[in-house]
Amino acid sequence: MDRVPPGSSADPSFGRHHVTVGYLAISLEQAAGPAAIRGGSGASAALRSGAPIYSAAMHILVSNDDGYLAPGLQALAEALRRFGTVTVVAPEQNCSGASNSLTLSRPLTVHKAANGYLYLNGTPTDCVHVALTGLLERLPDLVVSGINNGQNMGDDTIYSGTVAAAMEGYLFGLPSIAFSHVDKGHDHLESAARCAADLVARYVERPLAGPFLLNVNIPNLPYERLGAFRCTRLGKRHQAEPVIRATSPRGETIYWVGSAGEARLAGPGTDFHAVASGAVSVTPLQIDLTHVDQLDGVAGWLTA
Ligand code: MN
Repeated sequence: MDRVPPGSSADPSFGRHHVTVGYLAISLEQAAGPAAIRGGSGASAALRSGAPIYSAAMHILVSNDDGYLAPGLQALAEALRRFGTVTVVAPEQNCSGASNSLTLSRPLTVHKAANGYLYLNGTPTDCVHVALTGLLERLPDLVVSGINNGQNMGDDTIYSGTVAAAMEGYLFGLPSIAFSHVDKGHDHLESAARCAADLVARYVERPLAGPFLLNVNIPNLPYERLGAFRCTRLGKRHQAEPVIRATSPRGETIYWVGSAGEARLAGPGTDFHAVASGAVSVTPLQIDLTHVDQLDGVAGWLTA
């Protein structure tokens, strides 16, 4: 994962769109979502065959953080077309490490690429935010992000623009999934895209209750060698590698943020452990950062 320093993507307006969650959740139930296609006979067989199975199709919003030209985005968008309408709104530039940043200091413009993808001169969060709050004529039934070129496990999820794009959908009350390819370079990308489509097919066949945010990490393996989906919790990494210092051609000292740390908490049940055994890690995420275990301690400290 490409990283930015802690705090650099912090945005004071983060969380301000919570107020619309209820409205959108209601709208979603009225839209032609998975429920509209659940009852069709032979749906399971048709889904497995890869054929389109319904007329009241899903509308899926696809974004990423690697930019609208990224192969992982194209593979994901194409693999999900059989579920209905796919709209791509992705950043113009690579925004890996952008976290949940919104662009508030300049206007955003949307352009359409020759392949129909919409791209925007902003962050992953900008893309989904703009799409959901005015760009799209109707709300999507599902928001997906990826397939990222590199893993987003453990602490990566704090910095990840891939997770952030999906998180923006979740903040608006929509089912949302972030997909990442564990090793950089996208070896076996078609396999990962097929795996992503399998998970969406599972959701179509057996809708999961409530808005959810799933963080999925797919090992770079041929489809036949990919393990099962495994529900995991986030592991933890060691401290990040030191910043890399260099001298610019103008003689200034410059810094490149170093690599993420190696996995530290990677035992059974974690995302790191799952992908190490070839399984596809699926971690349900939440957003509330409140440290519940410390509430009493801090309250007592404040009043003592
Ligand atoms: Mn990325």
